[in-house]
Amino acid sequence: MHCASRLAEEGFQATCFEEHSTIGRPVQCAGLISRSGVEDLGLRLDNSIVNQVRGAKIFSPGGESLTVERKETVAFVVDRLVFDQNIYKKAKRVGVEVKMDSKLIDIRNNSLFMQNQGHGELVKSQITVGADGANSIVRHALFPKIQENGFVQGFQIRAQGHFDKNLVELHFGEFAPGFFAWVVPESSTVARIGLGVRLGQSAAKGLQQFLQQRQLKIRTLSKVGGLIPISQPAKELVKGNVLLVGDAAAQTKATSGGGLIFGLKAAEACADTIATHLKHKQSLASYSRNLADINKELGLHWKIYSYTQGLRPEKFDSLFAKARDAGIEKFLEDCGDMDRPGSFMRKMLLKPKMWGLLPAVLKTI
Ligand SMILES: Cc1cc2nc3c(=O)[nH]c(=O)nc-3n(C[C@H](O)[C@H](O)[C@H](O)COP(=O)(O)OP(=O)(O)OC[C@H]3O[C@@H](n4cnc5c(N)ncnc54)[C@H](O)[C@@H]3O)c2cc1C
Repeated sequence: MHCASRLAEEGFQATCFEEHSTIGRPVQCAGLISRSGVEDLGLRLDNSIVNQVRGAKIFSPGGESLTVERKETVAFVVDRLVFDQNIYKKAKRVGVEVKMDSKLIDIRNNSLFMQNQGHGELVKSQITVGADGANSIVRHALFPKIQENGFVQGFQIRAQGHFDKNLVELHFGEFAPGFFAWVVPESSTVARIGLGVRLGQSAAKGLQQFLQQRQLKIRTLSKVGGLIPISQPAKELVKGNVLLVGDAAAQTKATSGGGLIFGLKAAEACADTIATHLKHKQSLASYSRNLADINKELGLHWKIYSYTQGLRPEKFDSLFAKARDAGIEKFLEDCGDMDRPGSFMRKMLLKPKMWGLLPAVLKTI
């Protein structure tokens, strides 16, 4: 919808089809987004902010921990429903037509086969953007080369308990094979607690195991689940007059599963590509050029993810201890950015204390 808004602002006619009757429901998200990403995008979060966090506490499988905490806000915890509704309201304001209860069933070139409250409809579109999430019909139909197994299964509860409202927690361990568990505080008494697991494993069981192992005493308020794309950036995101964006295009950070900021940035690159195509007849294939910076960072997230997933638990623990001894906590407080590993990896080279970690960094790269 962000892509459609940008196009409408440029004077083009844009229509969004949404299968549900309410924008933003069901909510399947922890709602954590970086302040730097919000600032890059010039987003106005307004009434969607639930909490502001200053850093993270990260636990290795054996319980070694690293704490990175700044004096100022580094990330926002948002109400995802309100966040999505704000994007929808803006789209309406700038003239995007939004058709609710309209489900895409299939797509062939410029023909969209829709179902509206049980009735079939054929829609002709000059250019189509598949922004239909992790289970994208558009991707299934037209982009078979994009890995269909590059996902983790996410599961999350909203729970009452005692939490540090300033810090997010990340926990690696056998309870979350292929990913990690998270605690994202809404306040000192409510948090979103979840994890991801490889497809085929039970995320709900993993969460149970995590809560027991880390002895978290909580009362569950609600539960959600959903797929999270975890893969390297897809090379081919344009086919004829169809483009993919967001989770449909696996534009999530492989290290965390976060897709909001990169998905929105990619939506802008997608809108710019389409606008230039319509105005100056430039090929839609320039989308991949316009995604170069985004894909560079996403590629690095993928390499870090692949490296850490290849570590045995004892190696993970010893890497944490080594990193702490090298002063990584202070270094990340000064130079870290949860979205842009590229920037702090370069800065590591300038800090002699960090050179002991270079073999691990080089293996990642
Ligand atoms: C448990 C969990 C926690 C997460 N936590 C975070 C987090 O803290 N921070 C973060 O940045 N990211 C997080 N993510 C990822 C984030 O939610 C996604 O990256 C983001 O929602 C992707 O946005 P999207 O618009 O591409 O896809 P979606 O948000 O999935 O939107 C796709 C839209 O298309 C509609 N649609 C789908 N199919 C059709 C169809 N056939 N016809 C019509 N409409 C259709 C859907 O109803 C939906 O409205 C999390 C994901 C999960 C599962």
